[in-house]
Amino acid sequence: MRPEVLNPLFVEVGALDGVGPKLRKPLDKLGLTRVRDIAYHLPDRFVTRRAVESLDEAGIGEQVVIALTPTEHRSSSGRGPYRVLAQDSAGNICALTYFGRASYTAKKLLPVGEKRWVAGRIDQFGQMLQIVHPDHVVEDSGETLTRLCEPVYALSEGLTQPKVAGLVEQALSKLPDLPEWIEPGQFEAEKWPAWKDALKLAHKGEHEAARDRLAYDELLANSLALMLVRADNRLRKGQPLRGDGSLRGKLQLPYELTGAQERSVAEIEGDLAQEAPMLRLLQGDVGAGKTVVALEAMLITNEAGKQAALLAPTEILARQHFETLRSMVRPTGIEIALLTGRDKGKARESILMGLLDGSIDIVIGTHAIFQDTVAYRDLGLVVIDEQHRFGVAQRLMLTAKGKRTPHTLAMTATPIPRTLTLAQYGEMDVSRLDEMPPGRQPIDTRVVAQERLADVVEGVSRHIASGQQAYWVCPMVRENENEDIAAAEARFASLKERFGDEVVLVHGQLKPELKDAAMERFASGKAKLLIATTVIEVGVDVPAATLMVIEQAERFGLAQLHQLRGRVGRGSEKSVCLLLRGSALSETGRERLALMRETQDGFRLAEEDLRLRGGGELLGTRQSGDTPFRVASLEQITRLLPKAHDDARILMDRDGGLTGTRGEAARILLYLFERDWGVQLLRGG
Ligand code: ADP
Ligand code: MG
Repeated sequence: MRPEVLNPLFVEVGALDGVGPKLRKPLDKLGLTRVRDIAYHLPDRFVTRRAVESLDEAGIGEQVVIALTPTEHRSSSGRGPYRVLAQDSAGNICALTYFGRASYTAKKLLPVGEKRWVAGRIDQFGQMLQIVHPDHVVEDSGETLTRLCEPVYALSEGLTQPKVAGLVEQALSKLPDLPEWIEPGQFEAEKWPAWKDALKLAHKGEHEAARDRLAYDELLANSLALMLVRADNRLRKGQPLRGDGSLRGKLQLPYELTGAQERSVAEIEGDLAQEAPMLRLLQGDVGAGKTVVALEAMLITNEAGKQAALLAPTEILARQHFETLRSMVRPTGIEIALLTGRDKGKARESILMGLLDGSIDIVIGTHAIFQDTVAYRDLGLVVIDEQHRFGVAQRLMLTAKGKRTPHTLAMTATPIPRTLTLAQYGEMDVSRLDEMPPGRQPIDTRVVAQERLADVVEGVSRHIASGQQAYWVCPMVRENENEDIAAAEARFASLKERFGDEVVLVHGQLKPELKDAAMERFASGKAKLLIATTVIEVGVDVPAATLMVIEQAERFGLAQLHQLRGRVGRGSEKSVCLLLRGSALSETGRERLALMRETQDGFRLAEEDLRLRGGGELLGTRQSGDTPFRVASLEQITRLLPKAHDDARILMDRDGGLTGTRGEAARILLYLFERDWGVQLLRGG
């Protein structure tokens, strides 16, 4: 149960004044559904404005507050902007420019001949100065002049800065007093503000100590929750699994395992033999050969008379794993089945029966394999492939099926910097595949300007003519999946004109049957060119595909580019990756693409990515899904996580049941950051 003191924070946003159904939607889009979320919607940055007497004092690009008197309204014909010409006290003219529907407000706000205080950024517009969409237009000087420093919040369509600021103000007025959960020594040494003050300060200005404290809270909550899971895991009873090698001995692999694969299998085998359930992460770059390691682990489980399940993140991957593994286990006589959300009726019934009576030894599938209707006779091992999302393994363990907690092996190809490994996986044991299977050729990576698209298409054409296959990844517009798909469809249409039936398209909103059919045509070599959004990012394995084209490569993170590039270079043929770049490339963007050309070491790329993105910036570096954090920036994670981790460790050692005064405070913290699945493991929690 959530501590009562937090109740005011977990009330729906609808409880705030002025939030009706119309505002709900844009708030929802930003993930702001409760008062707590609004209070934690920290500014991306702040604008600092200067009050100026006349336009002569203002520099181009400067944020100012100035008194102006409108002299003339000019609406343009067609879709041009609406302009209000206005005069400062010295008689200089500037334009206040409004686009779209904002012109209606302009008409009302800026009557000709009446002085107004205007806040906004001065731009050059031809011979004239202008302010586009002023931030404020008010009659009274006092109000504007107190707002010389203002937060700038992330918005979605339908929200404005003042509206969000108003909601934040309301949310902040509802903050309860909470006991301190940070270790007193740490708290004193850092000179951090108390929780409530920190939240208020963080909305007011660039207050580093406040931001740090809030980030630290989040990191501490995360570390604690992971430690609670780990501690709980040690107390749980699993079943020791020992294999006699009888099934593994029958595998007929066309290659020898690498040293790293051998070592990982041995580590897993050691864990499986223990009574405490395994909680291990297998980390290995794309193409490092994780699948065969997972197979060995599953066969050990089968040798011990138990079932194994492999969970894939998408249908495509589940299917592909199934095909690969089915042919690999053929000589062993093992029963293997595929179960996805799409299987219905008789086929599904028969698989469910097989899982229940134990005639199926290995099941591959999407999360459908863990639905309530699926029961296992004796599940010994769960393998989770391509785990990106935080806590999946941990959560799964909690809801684990089977008489006893099964062993868990999570596999990831995301090369995470060391600091982030701790954040994502806490104290999970890690096996690393740090050695590639022999015979891989480096991928020839080139950066090409988008204007040379025609040449690129020619290159693809020659490539296909020589009998090889290619991927073409379309740009990613992070804000809107539909736009990604539109871009991919447009590209598909144009390339189809050129290549006809040799091209297929795959994206996230395609009907599953169509997606599979397209994948199947490509994997079997019937189609030569696969156009895709980023859905192909993980796992797909088509060794005959040796060319990868990525449009607007600068929009992707380094780690993501690396994953995409890893789709080629899987066979013995030489592979090429073309990174198309747009014309407006920032310095960092240039550096990142250069790095892609320079190295193929995923871990190095991940470290550099962290360095390039996390450097120095105090604000505006909030995460977009590659860490489990909403408050802490990459830079803060790197700097503060080790401390938070130690702090959590100390607390766990002193008060593992979280029953003391600080323990109680820490429970509140866990609920505040919704890491309460950690608390629920505590007896009587
Ligand atoms: P990932 O780690 O990305 O899941 P896969 O398991 O799909 O990698 O393996 C990539 C390719 O490498 C597959 O085609 C697989 O057959 C091959 N492979 C795996 N291990 C070895 C090895 N020891 N020697 C040669 N090839 C291997
Ligand atoms: Mg894989």
